[in-house]
Order: sequence, then C-alpha cells, then structure tokens
Amino acid sequence: MQQPAVVNYASVPLSVELRDVHVPEISEDAVLLQVDAVAVCGSEIHQWQGTHSWDVNYPVILSHEFAGTVAAVGARVAEFSVGDRVVSETAAVIDPHSSLSRQGLYNLDPVRKGFGYGVDGAMTHFVCVPTRCLHHVPPVVPLFHAALAEPCNVAYNAVVNHASVRPGDYVVVLGPGPIGLLCGLMARLRGAAVAVIGLPHDRERLDIAVRLGMFATEAVPRDWGGSLGVHGVIDATGVSAALHTALQIVRPAGWITKVGWGPEPLVTRWTCWSGKP
Ligand SMILES: [Zn+2]
Repeated sequence: MQQPAVVNYASVPLSVELRDVHVPEISEDAVLLQVDAVAVCGSEIHQWQGTHSWDVNYPVILSHEFAGTVAAVGARVAEFSVGDRVVSETAAVIDPHSSLSRQGLYNLDPVRKGFGYGVDGAMTHFVCVPTRCLHHVPPVVPLFHAALAEPCNVAYNAVVNHASVRPGDYVVVLGPGPIGLLCGLMARLRGAAVAVIGLPHDRERLDIAVRLGMFATEAVPRDWGGSLGVHGVIDATGVSAALHTALQIVRPAGWITKVGWGPEPLVTRWTCWSGKP
C-alpha cells in the first residue's frame, strides 16, 4: 500500500518534496502508528535548508515529534493494542549495550538513529515505531498536545535536571522560540519570575510569552532581579555568541544553561565572568 510522505531526499538545500512511499512493514517488537499530529522542529528547517550538522540517511521521511493511534502490532508486542493513543520518543535505533544506554542515557548513545534523519519519521500516514519508544497518552491529553512531548522534555531537562531554579528566583530566557518559551514555563512552574528576551522580529512570540505570564522585552532588562544580576539564564537562541550576554547578566554564584548552539565557533573572554564583584 502506498502513502504520501514529506521526504528529504538530498543534502542540497530545499531537497524536500511530497512523494508516494510504501507503508512500512513492522518488526515483531514494533507497532504501526497512524499519525494524528506532528510538530515541526527547527532541525527539520535545517535539513530543508541543508544547514544541518548531522548525518542524514537520504531519502528519509521528516519528523520526530509525533503522536497517534496504534493501527497494528508486531508478533511480540504485549503492552500496546490496536486503538491505543500513543506518543513516541525520538531515538528510533539505539545500541542497548553501549555504556551510555546502560546508564539510561540512550538519547546520547553515539550510534543512535533518530526518526526524521536516521530512519523514516512521521510526516506521513503510518510510521513503524519500536515499543521501546512509545508511551500511552492519557485520555485528557489531546494527541495534538502530546506531539509536543519531546520539546517539553528538552525544556524539562534543561531547566529541572540541569539548572537550579528556586521559588522567587529571577530567570532570563534568551530566545523566544518554542524551546525558549517552554523553558520559561518550566522555570515559572519552579516558582521563578521569568523575562524572555527576543529581537524586534520576534514580537509575535514575545506577545505569547506575555500571555503565558512572563515579562517579555527586546532589550536585556537593566537591574531586573537586582543590581547583582539574575539568578539564572537559559540561552535558547541557537546562537553560540549569546553566551556572552548570559555571562554579562548572571549574578555571582548564578547559573547559565545553554540549550541552543549555533555552528559558529565560540570565542569568549572569561574575564567578563571572573571579574564580577
Ligand atoms: Zn525536535
């Protein structure tokens, strides 16, 4: 059976088109997932523009942020049934015996292959997903929202696992893209006051930040959080040099979590950091 799919077929910029592809066969430990919702990740924009820094297994169907309904199950699948509402993780293929996988850090396993670049993703009707990647979606959560599980987890990992936000802290988020806004929401849930910084062309996104209860501005706020600087900075700009701004506004003994990186090399004068009072 054939299905239409959004296929990235070469590294040349703009090599993405709608193609007819075969509905995949499923292995005995996988399900055939009927896609209900996909989110567009910045990484897909990079693959479309040919500006990505990772190996792509061309031709490949895009998308790694998706949720849907189980349409068929492999012979050894017991924990999922046809009709179940599910959301998928992104690491489609991993080495379960690598040292990182055995620590639970399978998302960092160097041989992993993700949906949308290593194996076929979900910008189509049906995608093959190993049960290891799947989670049931509670009935109260729309699949449209469940497709955002991965970017929400990026924000959770950055703000909860790798930062130290306490109630009453002042936290600045650099970059009002989806990841920045989700990081801001996580910091708000931890009890912080959050300011989101963007550029003039980010006005629409900054307005969303305001609607979500954050302070939003196009300039780094002077003395916001006190004369010493802010307790923490989350850099979600995707520009390596934004680390300089973070170093200038964080207070002594504060923290910086850098979520977004750009391709340009980062050269910094650490004196702006060590020279703080
Ligand atoms: Zn993503």
